[in-house]
Amino acid sequence: MISAPRGTRDILPGESWKWSYIVQTASKTMKDFGFSEIHLPIFEHTELFSRGVGETTDIVEKEMYTFEDRGGRSITLRPEATAGVMRAAIENNLCAQGASAKLWNWGPMFRHERPQKGRYRQFYQIDAESLGISNAAADVEVIALSIEIFRRLGLKNLEVVINSVGCEKCRPVYRQKLIEYFEKHKSDLCETCLTRLDRNPLRILDCKQESCGRVADGAPDIFDSLCDECREHFAEVRAGLERLGFTYTLNKRLVRGLDYYTKTAYEILSGDLGAQNAVAGGGRYDNLASAIGGNKIPGVGFACGLDRIMLVMEEQGCDFGQTPKTDAYVVALDDKSRGAAQVLTYELRKNKISAACDIAGRSFKAQMKSAGSCEFVCIIGSEELAAGTVSIKHDGSQISMPMNEAASYILKSKN
Ligand code: AMP
Repeated sequence: MISAPRGTRDILPGESWKWSYIVQTASKTMKDFGFSEIHLPIFEHTELFSRGVGETTDIVEKEMYTFEDRGGRSITLRPEATAGVMRAAIENNLCAQGASAKLWNWGPMFRHERPQKGRYRQFYQIDAESLGISNAAADVEVIALSIEIFRRLGLKNLEVVINSVGCEKCRPVYRQKLIEYFEKHKSDLCETCLTRLDRNPLRILDCKQESCGRVADGAPDIFDSLCDECREHFAEVRAGLERLGFTYTLNKRLVRGLDYYTKTAYEILSGDLGAQNAVAGGGRYDNLASAIGGNKIPGVGFACGLDRIMLVMEEQGCDFGQTPKTDAYVVALDDKSRGAAQVLTYELRKNKISAACDIAGRSFKAQMKSAGSCEFVCIIGSEELAAGTVSIKHDGSQISMPMNEAASYILKSKN
């Protein structure tokens, strides 16, 4: 027996309709915010991620599914969406001559992480990117969009956490201050953080190890190192969020695991998820376009984890909209009527009525059992067959009518 690879799972019918509900809710929200859907390749040239996400990030160093294709090119299954969206925008000139583009997409991402609750190797993200605008208003719009998706889905107990990670002007100064500080506390850092010390000291700030956390709490504050532009931008983002009535928490240790972030970084955390508690993360990435070889295109966006949204919604007993149901079941009283039952079922389906009939040759009793949960039960036997009629049970009564009137009757009387 061949099983699914570790860290992957099958989304079965009992769950898939709930996924569709989440994606449809997100899709409508995106539309209301002026974001257009795009579809991107699931694999890209490895370089896109090593240059975009950053050589020294966990994703690039340890987590990518990278392989050589038959043409000898290094290919990577996308570990995240932003770099691909930016690549597509550059390649298709979506932001030429200062134009802006608001884009969203959803689909699987791949990271070779240690699987646990809410963490998979193939997981799904809903992703939104606002490209071409450097104003803080774009950050505010993106954060509001992510909050609105969760509001429409009915998620409770969420916390919005924000920070600024500075830009290419002020971050090197801050980086240096961090190195000097962490050098003095080396003995309390975990092994991973010791390797981060020279290469990516900002990542030490969000280490989950307790002793590193204690050291990080005392680290120099990024707010003291921000340049005027970053400081002003952050103040505008905060004021914008406040104008929209959002509450948020400042967290100077929030740096996120991807190098491309500049200025705003944020996460939305759930109190109902345990260790993997982020349902969404995002921020601004004004240098990503140039890192992957394009002209400068500012951008801000977020990705939320569909698997985790699902977990939280189940945990909180959220509503997933209508459960899938079949409106009409066409029962064949005898074998001779089976053909007519299939014809009527097809006729109803052509009229956009969800309908079913037996195709397994089951008994009348078994068919009636399947019909049990349907609002309409259509019955065809030899009498109906001869007269070209059908008997329809609905709302406790039964009426007979010409077969070709069944669809309009059902459409008229449907709840
Ligand atoms: P990131 O791209 O790391 O900023 O992650 C954005 C969001 O994707 C997170 O807040 C999670 O909801 C989700 N996510 C990231 N990695 C995983 C994973 N391995 N399994 C499930 N969800 C994930």
